[in-house]
Amino acid sequence: MLLLTKKMSELNHNKIIIIGAGLTGLCTGCYLQMKGFSTEIYELHNLPGGLCTSWHRKGYTFDGCIHWLVGSGPGDNFNNLWNELIDMKKVKFVDFDYYLKAEDLKGNSFKLFADVDKLEEELLRFSPEDKIPIKEFCKSAKKFSKLNMPIEKAPELYNILDGLKIMFKMLPYSFLFSKWRKISQNEFASRFKNPLLRLAFSMSEFEDMGATFNLFRQSWMHKKSAGYPIGGSLEFSRLFEKKYTELGGKIFYKCKVEKINVENHKATGIKLETGEEIKGDLVVSAADGFSTIYKMLEGKYVGKEQEKWYSTGITFPSLVQVSFGINKDFSSEPHSVIYPVSKPIKLDSKSVYNHILLRIFNFDATMSPPGKTVMYAFFATPEYKYWTDLRKNNLTLYRTEKNRIAGEVLEAVEERFGKLNPYVEEIDVATPATIIRYTNNWKGSYEGWLFVKGLGFINLKRTLPGLENFYMAGQWIEVGGGLPGCILSARNLSQIIEKKFKN
Ligand SMILES: Cc1cc2nc3c(=O)[nH]c(=O)nc-3n(C[C@H](O)[C@H](O)[C@H](O)COP(=O)(O)OP(=O)(O)OC[C@H]3O[C@@H](n4cnc5c(N)ncnc54)[C@H](O)[C@@H]3O)c2cc1C
Repeated sequence: MLLLTKKMSELNHNKIIIIGAGLTGLCTGCYLQMKGFSTEIYELHNLPGGLCTSWHRKGYTFDGCIHWLVGSGPGDNFNNLWNELIDMKKVKFVDFDYYLKAEDLKGNSFKLFADVDKLEEELLRFSPEDKIPIKEFCKSAKKFSKLNMPIEKAPELYNILDGLKIMFKMLPYSFLFSKWRKISQNEFASRFKNPLLRLAFSMSEFEDMGATFNLFRQSWMHKKSAGYPIGGSLEFSRLFEKKYTELGGKIFYKCKVEKINVENHKATGIKLETGEEIKGDLVVSAADGFSTIYKMLEGKYVGKEQEKWYSTGITFPSLVQVSFGINKDFSSEPHSVIYPVSKPIKLDSKSVYNHILLRIFNFDATMSPPGKTVMYAFFATPEYKYWTDLRKNNLTLYRTEKNRIAGEVLEAVEERFGKLNPYVEEIDVATPATIIRYTNNWKGSYEGWLFVKGLGFINLKRTLPGLENFYMAGQWIEVGGGLPGCILSARNLSQIIEKKFKN
């Protein structure tokens, strides 16, 4: 039921158009519907979720997203947010005892336990000579686990009292935070003398990733609020699609938005790839930032901030994901393991890996038939252009390259798990071209702006200079991306729109 207020009813079409049915678009739709606005979502794919997705192949489900969901457990402010839209008690989360097992070729290993005390004990056992960085990391992670992010209100709506309250809340953490945010993850990792600790803590593919990223993950895992939802990412996204439609929202799939229509510097609606035009009072883009600003709006509303970020900002890389459906039980194996490989895995000219990071879905029985297992490796690559050009210009070679990579990865897996070839029933290789085709994300990035060292928790402006009735939300607004960023972005924007258009 549309609850129109005076200001909103002065607008013409009583409708807010949202571009994109990723987690951000769905959450934005939910919050706006809950606030009495009428919304419609236009999505290029035939599924909800955007990057938060999974796909089915011959009885196996290959997951493309959630490793850890901030706010999965009670007692965290993000949990309150998720609960506003879905019943989190009905989602079964796995809280891993450890995040990753690291192994070397000589049979040495350690686990990155979620519990910080266990982690400290394990790492000190494994590498006593690294006592200083181990203690430093663990002490800080424990301290940050007590922090509950102040996310009740959009920062744009803070008054002086809100500002003071937040300053007061953050004060006990500000010294520690400013110390950690000065260093990158790799700089921190280089402090370890032990090479396996360096491997587990470094992020070779994310050169500039700030050290706070790992630290916060650890602190959320410690307080059991960074779990994995049984059923996987698409099932999780579907919960928001369901909520949105129950709230009266409408989603139009297979509707690629080509243009945002503008009259007198006011967004008036959208034009689809098919040529169809849809009018709306407000347009919210929850889609890729670059194509929104430079293609759908033809680069006509670019301010200094957008110019700076889109010319020098560092993005999460793209990736190649190799998934296997294996007719074998791996229940006694770790769910996540990293190890060096004797033969490098070459993805493309810029991405050669001497190690492999494997995820073994022995913790989610819904992903494969009984007795069978899904296993996947994923590798970051900046070479999105190479992959999209190859797919466009030489589909045969593109497929040959995917097969070659799958073969190299399988060899690396077999180095650790023994002969698997006879048990492999399905292989799927997703490349940057796949990400771009299905989600349209700039450079095939899988999480938007990288949380580089030096940055705090910031967001870009949600509006563009000179353009009215238009907003943006999602991973291209909230630096660091991720699913909590989606719901936070959506919620903040809905508060801003409510304030502006309701009395
Ligand atoms: C492998 C992987 C692992 C990840 N792991 C985690 C994790 O463990 N925890 C976590 O929190 N996050 C994780 N993420 C990141 C998280 O998935 C993203 O940050 C988040 O899903 C982004 O959501 P979004 O809605 O902002 O953007 P998107 O998901 O990109 O959604 C944008 C939507 O807009 C649509 N769209 C784009 N252009 C148009 C157009 N022109 N017309 C119509 N529709 C359009 C797209 O199809 C898409 O559906 C991971 C991502 C990947 C790929």
